[in-house]
Amino acid sequence: MNSGYNIANLNPKSIAAYIHFPFCQRKCAYCDFYSEDHHLERIDSWVAALEKEIQLRLAKLNFYPKLSTIYIGGGSPNLLGAANLKRIVRVFQAHADWSSLDEFTIEFNPNYVTEELVSAMLESGVNRISLGCQSFQNAELAMLGRLHSTTEIETTLQLLLHAGFANLSIDLIYGIPGQTLQTWAHSLQRALDYRVTHLSLYNLIYEKGTQLSKARAAERIPVVTEEVEWQMFAFAHEKLADCGYEHYEISNWGKPGYASYHNQAYWQYRPYLGFGPAAHSFYNMRRSWNVRSVDQYIQRLQRKGLPIAGHEVITPPKRDLEILMLGLRTRNGVSCSLLQEMTGVEYAVLVKALEQKFAEKTNELWYIAEDNLSLTTLGWFLYNSVLDIFIDLIGELKNGH
Ligand code: SF4
Repeated sequence: MNSGYNIANLNPKSIAAYIHFPFCQRKCAYCDFYSEDHHLERIDSWVAALEKEIQLRLAKLNFYPKLSTIYIGGGSPNLLGAANLKRIVRVFQAHADWSSLDEFTIEFNPNYVTEELVSAMLESGVNRISLGCQSFQNAELAMLGRLHSTTEIETTLQLLLHAGFANLSIDLIYGIPGQTLQTWAHSLQRALDYRVTHLSLYNLIYEKGTQLSKARAAERIPVVTEEVEWQMFAFAHEKLADCGYEHYEISNWGKPGYASYHNQAYWQYRPYLGFGPAAHSFYNMRRSWNVRSVDQYIQRLQRKGLPIAGHEVITPPKRDLEILMLGLRTRNGVSCSLLQEMTGVEYAVLVKALEQKFAEKTNELWYIAEDNLSLTTLGWFLYNSVLDIFIDLIGELKNGH
Protein backbone atom coordinates (compact mmCIF):
# COMPACT_ATOMS: atom_id res chain seq x y z
CA MET A 1 0.00 0.00 0.00
CA ASN A 2 1.26 3.47 -0.69
CA SER A 3 -1.31 5.62 1.10
CA GLY A 4 1.25 6.58 3.70
CA TYR A 5 0.09 3.57 5.68
CA ASN A 6 2.39 0.68 6.31
CA ILE A 7 1.74 -2.12 8.79
CA ALA A 8 5.42 -1.90 9.79
CA ASN A 9 4.70 1.62 11.06
CA LEU A 10 2.34 0.31 13.70
CA ASN A 11 4.87 -0.77 16.26
CA PRO A 12 7.92 1.43 16.05
CA LYS A 13 9.95 2.45 19.03
CA SER A 14 9.49 6.01 17.92
CA ILE A 15 6.59 7.77 19.62
CA ALA A 16 4.56 10.89 18.89
CA ALA A 17 3.50 12.39 22.24
CA TYR A 18 0.44 14.61 22.71
CA ILE A 19 -0.20 16.49 25.96
CA HIS A 20 -3.65 17.89 26.55
CA PHE A 21 -3.53 21.05 28.66
CA PRO A 22 -7.08 21.13 30.06
CA PHE A 23 -7.58 24.75 31.15
CA CYS A 24 -8.87 27.93 29.48
CA GLN A 25 -9.54 31.36 30.96
CA ARG A 26 -13.07 31.33 29.51
CA LYS A 27 -14.91 29.10 27.03
CA CYS A 28 -15.14 30.54 23.52
CA ALA A 29 -18.64 30.82 22.02
CA TYR A 30 -18.09 28.03 19.45
CA CYS A 31 -15.93 25.61 21.43
CA ASP A 32 -16.87 22.09 22.46
CA PHE A 33 -13.29 20.85 22.99
CA TYR A 34 -12.70 19.50 26.45
CA SER A 35 -11.28 22.20 28.73
CA GLU A 36 -12.22 23.64 32.13
CA ASP A 37 -12.44 27.40 32.74
CA HIS A 38 -12.65 27.42 36.53
CA HIS A 39 -10.24 26.83 39.45
CA LEU A 40 -7.14 27.52 37.41
CA GLU A 41 -5.17 27.30 40.67
CA ARG A 42 -5.20 23.51 39.99
CA ILE A 43 -2.65 23.90 37.19
CA ASP A 44 0.34 23.00 39.40
CA SER A 45 -1.41 19.89 40.81
CA TRP A 46 -2.34 18.93 37.27
CA VAL A 47 1.32 19.15 36.23
CA ALA A 48 2.32 16.93 39.19
CA ALA A 49 -0.26 14.35 38.03
CA LEU A 50 0.94 14.67 34.43
CA GLU A 51 4.52 13.93 35.51
CA LYS A 52 3.25 10.68 37.07
CA GLU A 53 1.27 9.75 33.98
CA ILE A 54 4.31 10.27 31.73
CA GLN A 55 6.46 8.07 33.99
CA LEU A 56 3.81 5.32 34.27
CA ARG A 57 2.88 5.24 30.60
CA LEU A 58 6.45 5.20 29.32
CA ALA A 59 7.44 2.55 31.89
CA LYS A 60 4.65 0.29 30.57
CA LEU A 61 6.29 0.15 27.13
CA ASN A 62 8.65 -2.82 27.03
CA PHE A 63 11.40 -0.76 25.39
CA TYR A 64 13.14 2.58 25.83
CA PRO A 65 11.07 4.90 23.57
CA LYS A 66 12.44 7.48 21.18
CA LEU A 67 10.36 10.64 21.02
CA SER A 68 9.74 11.78 17.45
CA THR A 69 7.39 14.69 18.20
CA ILE A 70 5.79 16.43 21.18
CA TYR A 71 2.66 18.51 20.83
CA ILE A 72 1.23 20.46 23.76
CA GLY A 73 -2.34 21.39 22.84
CA GLY A 74 -5.49 22.25 24.66
CA GLY A 75 -7.09 24.21 26.12
CA SER A 76 -4.82 27.23 26.39
CA PRO A 77 -1.26 25.97 27.01
CA ASN A 78 0.11 29.50 27.37
CA LEU A 79 -1.39 29.36 30.89
CA LEU A 80 1.07 26.56 31.68
CA GLY A 81 3.88 28.87 32.81
CA ALA A 82 7.64 28.66 32.30
CA ALA A 83 8.45 26.52 35.37
CA ASN A 84 5.77 23.94 34.52
CA LEU A 85 6.95 23.67 30.92
CA LYS A 86 10.45 22.88 32.18
CA ARG A 87 9.04 20.22 34.57
CA ILE A 88 7.28 18.47 31.67
CA VAL A 89 10.42 18.52 29.54
CA ARG A 90 12.55 17.14 32.40
CA VAL A 91 10.26 14.16 33.00
CA PHE A 92 10.25 13.24 29.29
CA GLN A 93 14.03 13.58 29.14
CA ALA A 94 14.39 11.28 32.16
CA HIS A 95 12.23 8.50 30.69
CA ALA A 96 12.67 8.61 26.92
CA ASP A 97 15.29 9.21 24.24
CA TRP A 98 14.97 12.89 23.39
CA SER A 99 17.88 12.98 20.95
CA SER A 100 15.87 12.38 17.78
CA LEU A 101 13.00 14.76 18.55
CA ASP A 102 12.01 16.27 15.19
CA GLU A 103 9.30 18.68 16.22
CA PHE A 104 8.14 20.19 19.50
CA THR A 105 4.99 22.28 19.10
CA ILE A 106 3.02 24.37 21.57
CA GLU A 107 -0.41 25.82 20.85
CA PHE A 108 -0.86 29.40 21.94
CA ASN A 109 -3.65 31.91 22.20
CA PRO A 110 -2.36 35.38 21.33
CA ASN A 111 -2.75 36.76 24.83
CA TYR A 112 -0.97 36.12 28.09
CA VAL A 113 2.34 35.36 26.39
CA THR A 114 5.19 36.45 28.65
CA GLU A 115 8.84 36.90 27.75
CA GLU A 116 9.66 34.43 30.55
CA LEU A 117 7.54 31.75 28.86
CA VAL A 118 9.09 32.54 25.47
CA SER A 119 12.62 32.07 26.94
CA ALA A 120 11.54 28.82 28.63
CA MET A 121 10.24 27.53 25.29
CA LEU A 122 13.52 28.30 23.58
CA GLU A 123 15.51 26.62 26.37
CA SER A 124 13.19 23.59 26.28
CA GLY A 125 13.64 22.94 22.57
CA VAL A 126 10.18 24.11 21.41
CA ASN A 127 10.67 24.68 17.68
CA ARG A 128 7.14 25.22 16.40
CA ILE A 129 4.29 27.44 17.63
CA SER A 130 0.70 27.09 16.57
CA LEU A 131 -1.07 30.37 17.21
CA GLY A 132 -4.88 30.39 17.55
CA CYS A 133 -5.54 33.77 15.90
CA GLN A 134 -8.91 32.77 14.30
CA SER A 135 -9.44 36.20 12.64
CA PHE A 136 -7.74 39.55 12.10
CA GLN A 137 -11.09 41.40 12.58
CA ASN A 138 -12.08 42.49 16.10
CA ALA A 139 -15.83 42.14 15.40
CA GLU A 140 -15.29 38.51 14.32
CA LEU A 141 -13.13 37.79 17.38
CA ALA A 142 -15.91 39.19 19.58
CA MET A 143 -18.49 37.03 17.77
CA LEU A 144 -16.35 33.96 18.51
CA GLY A 145 -16.02 34.99 22.17
CA ARG A 146 -12.23 35.12 21.92
CA LEU A 147 -10.42 36.91 24.74
CA HIS A 148 -7.83 38.59 22.53
CA SER A 149 -7.88 41.47 20.05
CA THR A 150 -6.10 41.90 16.73
CA THR A 151 -3.57 44.16 18.49
CA GLU A 152 -2.63 41.27 20.79
CA ILE A 153 -2.24 38.98 17.79
CA GLU A 154 0.18 41.41 16.17
CA THR A 155 2.13 41.94 19.43
CA THR A 156 2.42 38.19 20.05
CA LEU A 157 3.54 37.48 16.48
CA GLN A 158 6.20 40.17 16.74
CA LEU A 159 7.37 38.84 20.12
CA LEU A 160 7.68 35.28 18.78
CA LEU A 161 9.44 36.32 15.56
CA HIS A 162 11.79 38.60 17.48
CA ALA A 163 12.65 35.71 19.83
CA GLY A 164 13.65 33.60 16.81
CA PHE A 165 10.65 31.28 16.30
CA ALA A 166 10.70 30.93 12.53
CA ASN A 167 8.36 27.92 12.32
CA LEU A 168 4.98 29.50 13.03
CA SER A 169 1.54 28.19 12.22
CA ILE A 170 -1.61 30.33 12.36
CA ASP A 171 -5.17 29.05 12.84
CA LEU A 172 -7.99 30.98 11.18
CA ILE A 173 -11.74 30.28 11.02
CA TYR A 174 -14.01 30.88 8.03
CA GLY A 175 -17.81 30.98 8.11
CA ILE A 176 -17.90 33.24 11.21
CA PRO A 177 -21.31 34.97 11.49
CA GLY A 178 -21.03 38.34 9.79
CA GLN A 179 -17.81 37.43 7.97
CA THR A 180 -17.63 38.37 4.28
CA LEU A 181 -15.33 37.29 1.49
CA GLN A 182 -13.54 40.63 1.89
CA THR A 183 -12.93 40.29 5.64
CA TRP A 184 -11.81 36.67 5.09
CA ALA A 185 -9.35 37.76 2.41
CA HIS A 186 -8.05 40.45 4.77
CA SER A 187 -7.43 37.95 7.62
CA LEU A 188 -5.67 35.60 5.26
CA GLN A 189 -3.50 38.43 3.92
CA ARG A 190 -2.49 39.56 7.43
CA ALA A 191 -1.37 36.01 8.23
CA LEU A 192 0.59 35.88 4.96
CA ASP A 193 2.22 39.22 5.77
CA TYR A 194 4.02 37.45 8.62
CA ARG A 195 5.43 34.82 6.20
CA VAL A 196 4.26 32.00 8.45
CA THR A 197 5.36 28.50 7.48
CA HIS A 198 1.97 26.89 8.03
CA LEU A 199 -1.75 27.70 8.16
CA SER A 200 -4.70 25.74 9.54
CA LEU A 201 -8.04 27.03 8.24
CA TYR A 202 -11.19 25.64 9.83
CA ASN A 203 -14.79 25.95 8.74
CA LEU A 204 -16.87 27.09 11.74
CA ILE A 205 -19.01 24.27 13.06
CA TYR A 206 -22.06 25.01 15.19
CA GLU A 207 -21.42 22.36 17.83
CA LYS A 208 -24.45 21.37 19.88
CA GLY A 209 -24.77 23.18 23.20
CA THR A 210 -22.35 26.02 22.38
CA GLN A 211 -23.36 29.67 22.70
CA LEU A 212 -23.12 30.16 18.94
CA SER A 213 -25.35 27.21 18.15
CA LYS A 214 -27.98 28.57 20.57
CA ALA A 215 -27.68 32.02 18.98
CA ARG A 216 -28.15 30.48 15.55
CA ALA A 217 -31.23 28.53 16.70
CA ALA A 218 -32.69 31.80 18.04
CA GLU A 219 -31.84 33.52 14.71
CA ARG A 220 -29.76 36.14 16.56
CA ILE A 221 -26.69 36.00 14.31
CA PRO A 222 -26.05 36.51 10.56
CA VAL A 223 -25.10 32.97 9.51
CA VAL A 224 -22.82 32.62 6.47
CA THR A 225 -24.37 30.47 3.74
CA GLU A 226 -22.74 27.22 2.60
CA GLU A 227 -22.22 28.77 -0.85
CA VAL A 228 -20.16 31.64 0.65
CA GLU A 229 -18.25 29.19 2.86
CA TRP A 230 -17.31 27.27 -0.27
CA GLN A 231 -16.14 30.50 -1.93
CA MET A 232 -13.98 31.24 1.14
CA PHE A 233 -12.43 27.75 1.08
CA ALA A 234 -11.84 27.86 -2.68
CA PHE A 235 -10.35 31.37 -2.40
CA ALA A 236 -7.92 30.19 0.29
CA HIS A 237 -6.96 27.17 -1.80
CA GLU A 238 -6.10 29.35 -4.80
CA LYS A 239 -4.49 32.20 -2.90
CA LEU A 240 -2.25 29.97 -0.79
CA ALA A 241 -1.18 27.91 -3.81
CA ASP A 242 -0.13 31.20 -5.47
CA CYS A 243 1.91 32.02 -2.36
CA GLY A 244 3.78 28.70 -2.40
CA TYR A 245 1.82 26.74 0.24
CA GLU A 246 0.93 23.07 -0.26
CA HIS A 247 -2.65 22.15 0.63
CA TYR A 248 -1.72 18.80 2.12
CA GLU A 249 -4.79 18.07 4.28
CA ILE A 250 -8.37 19.37 4.23
CA SER A 251 -7.65 22.12 6.76
CA ASN A 252 -3.86 22.42 6.53
CA TRP A 253 -1.40 24.21 4.30
CA GLY A 254 2.38 24.29 4.66
CA LYS A 255 5.38 25.72 2.86
CA PRO A 256 7.41 22.85 1.33
CA GLY A 257 8.96 20.87 4.19
CA TYR A 258 6.69 22.45 6.82
CA ALA A 259 3.72 20.06 6.97
CA SER A 260 3.04 19.33 10.65
CA TYR A 261 5.12 16.25 11.36
CA HIS A 262 3.17 15.49 14.53
CA ASN A 263 -0.30 15.69 12.97
CA GLN A 264 0.82 13.49 10.11
CA ALA A 265 1.24 10.68 12.67
CA TYR A 266 -2.58 10.73 13.07
CA TRP A 267 -3.35 10.91 9.36
CA GLN A 268 -0.79 8.22 8.49
CA TYR A 269 -2.08 5.91 11.21
CA ARG A 270 1.14 5.87 13.19
CA PRO A 271 1.10 5.19 16.95
CA TYR A 272 0.90 8.02 19.44
CA LEU A 273 0.63 8.41 23.19
CA GLY A 274 -1.71 11.00 24.68
CA PHE A 275 -1.23 12.45 28.16
CA GLY A 276 -3.65 14.58 30.18
CA PRO A 277 -7.43 14.49 30.74
CA ALA A 278 -9.45 13.32 27.69
CA ALA A 279 -6.28 12.54 25.70
CA HIS A 280 -6.38 9.50 23.40
CA SER A 281 -3.56 7.02 22.79
CA PHE A 282 -3.18 4.61 19.88
CA TYR A 283 -0.71 1.83 20.21
CA ASN A 284 -0.52 -1.86 19.22
CA MET A 285 -3.91 -1.60 17.45
CA ARG A 286 -5.54 -0.50 20.67
CA ARG A 287 -7.03 2.92 21.29
CA SER A 288 -7.56 4.18 24.84
CA TRP A 289 -8.76 7.46 26.27
CA ASN A 290 -8.30 9.21 29.58
CA VAL A 291 -10.93 10.47 32.01
CA ARG A 292 -12.51 13.76 30.96
CA SER A 293 -12.16 15.61 34.25
CA VAL A 294 -9.19 17.39 35.83
CA ASP A 295 -10.20 16.36 39.36
CA GLN A 296 -10.64 12.68 38.46
CA TYR A 297 -7.39 12.75 36.50
CA ILE A 298 -5.45 14.08 39.50
CA GLN A 299 -7.14 11.65 41.93
CA ARG A 300 -6.45 8.59 39.76
CA LEU A 301 -2.76 9.47 39.46
CA GLN A 302 -2.45 10.24 43.18
CA ARG A 303 -3.52 6.61 43.67
CA LYS A 304 -0.75 5.65 41.18
CA GLY A 305 -3.13 4.33 38.52
CA LEU A 306 -3.28 5.34 34.88
CA PRO A 307 -6.29 7.63 34.33
CA ILE A 308 -7.78 5.49 31.54
CA ALA A 309 -11.57 5.77 31.08
CA GLY A 310 -11.96 3.21 28.28
CA HIS A 311 -10.35 1.42 25.37
CA GLU A 312 -11.15 -0.38 22.13
CA VAL A 313 -9.25 -2.97 20.14
CA ILE A 314 -9.07 -2.02 16.47
CA THR A 315 -10.16 -4.94 14.28
CA PRO A 316 -8.80 -5.20 10.69
CA PRO A 317 -12.10 -3.98 9.09
CA LYS A 318 -12.22 -1.01 11.48
CA ARG A 319 -8.55 -0.28 10.76
CA ASP A 320 -9.24 -0.21 7.01
CA LEU A 321 -12.21 2.09 7.48
CA GLU A 322 -10.18 4.47 9.63
CA ILE A 323 -7.34 4.50 7.11
CA LEU A 324 -9.88 5.35 4.41
CA MET A 325 -11.39 8.18 6.48
CA LEU A 326 -8.01 9.64 7.39
CA GLY A 327 -6.43 9.10 3.98
CA LEU A 328 -9.20 10.91 2.11
CA ARG A 329 -8.48 13.96 4.28
CA THR A 330 -4.97 14.15 2.81
CA ARG A 331 -3.62 15.14 -0.60
CA ASN A 332 -2.05 11.67 -0.97
CA GLY A 333 -5.46 10.07 -0.54
CA VAL A 334 -5.78 6.28 -0.17
CA SER A 335 -4.25 3.56 -2.26
CA CYS A 336 -6.54 1.76 -4.68
CA SER A 337 -5.13 -1.51 -3.34
CA LEU A 338 -6.61 -0.69 0.07
CA LEU A 339 -9.99 -0.11 -1.57
CA GLN A 340 -9.62 -3.41 -3.43
CA GLU A 341 -8.84 -5.19 -0.16
CA MET A 342 -11.84 -3.59 1.53
CA THR A 343 -14.27 -4.52 -1.24
CA GLY A 344 -12.74 -7.72 -2.61
CA VAL A 345 -13.28 -6.55 -6.23
CA GLU A 346 -10.85 -5.96 -9.09
CA TYR A 347 -9.47 -2.47 -9.76
CA ALA A 348 -11.43 -1.99 -13.01
CA VAL A 349 -14.71 -3.06 -11.38
CA LEU A 350 -14.05 -0.75 -8.47
CA VAL A 351 -13.39 2.29 -10.67
CA LYS A 352 -16.49 1.58 -12.77
CA ALA A 353 -18.62 1.28 -9.64
CA LEU A 354 -17.25 4.57 -8.31
CA GLU A 355 -17.96 6.33 -11.60
CA GLN A 356 -21.52 5.01 -11.63
CA LYS A 357 -22.10 5.98 -8.02
CA PHE A 358 -20.88 9.56 -8.45
CA ALA A 359 -22.27 9.89 -12.01
CA GLU A 360 -21.56 13.34 -13.48
CA LYS A 361 -19.95 14.48 -10.18
CA THR A 362 -17.07 12.01 -10.60
CA ASN A 363 -14.46 14.44 -11.91
CA GLU A 364 -15.59 17.19 -9.59
CA LEU A 365 -15.17 15.22 -6.37
CA TRP A 366 -12.34 12.68 -6.69
CA TYR A 367 -9.51 11.58 -8.95
CA ILE A 368 -6.97 8.79 -9.24
CA ALA A 369 -3.25 9.52 -9.68
CA GLU A 370 -0.45 6.97 -9.43
CA ASP A 371 -2.80 4.31 -8.04
CA ASN A 372 -4.00 6.60 -5.24
CA LEU A 373 -7.52 7.95 -4.94
CA SER A 374 -7.78 11.51 -3.62
CA LEU A 375 -10.56 14.05 -3.22
CA THR A 376 -10.63 17.31 -5.17
CA THR A 377 -10.95 20.66 -3.37
CA LEU A 378 -14.75 20.48 -3.75
CA GLY A 379 -14.67 16.86 -2.57
CA TRP A 380 -12.84 18.05 0.54
CA PHE A 381 -15.38 20.81 1.15
CA LEU A 382 -18.14 18.18 0.97
CA TYR A 383 -16.02 15.60 2.82
CA ASN A 384 -18.73 14.19 5.11
CA SER A 385 -21.26 13.50 2.34
CA VAL A 386 -18.58 12.20 -0.05
CA LEU A 387 -17.23 9.86 2.64
CA ASP A 388 -20.76 8.51 3.29
CA ILE A 389 -21.07 7.65 -0.41
CA PHE A 390 -17.70 5.84 -0.35
CA ILE A 391 -18.69 3.86 2.73
CA ASP A 392 -22.09 2.89 1.22
CA LEU A 393 -20.43 1.76 -2.00
CA ILE A 394 -17.80 -0.29 -0.20
CA GLY A 395 -20.58 -2.01 1.78
CA GLU A 396 -22.52 -2.75 -1.42
CA LEU A 397 -19.48 -4.17 -3.25
CA LYS A 398 -18.49 -6.28 -0.26
CA ASN A 399 -21.96 -7.77 -0.14
CA GLY A 400 -21.89 -8.47 -3.87
CA HIS A 401 -24.58 -5.96 -4.92
S1 SF4 B 1 -9.20 28.83 23.82
FE1 SF4 B 1 -9.45 27.06 22.45
S2 SF4 B 1 -9.91 25.31 23.79
FE2 SF4 B 1 -10.18 27.20 25.01
S3 SF4 B 1 -12.36 27.63 24.85
FE3 SF4 B 1 -11.35 28.80 23.22
S4 SF4 B 1 -11.40 27.46 21.42
FE4 SF4 B 1 -11.86 26.20 23.22
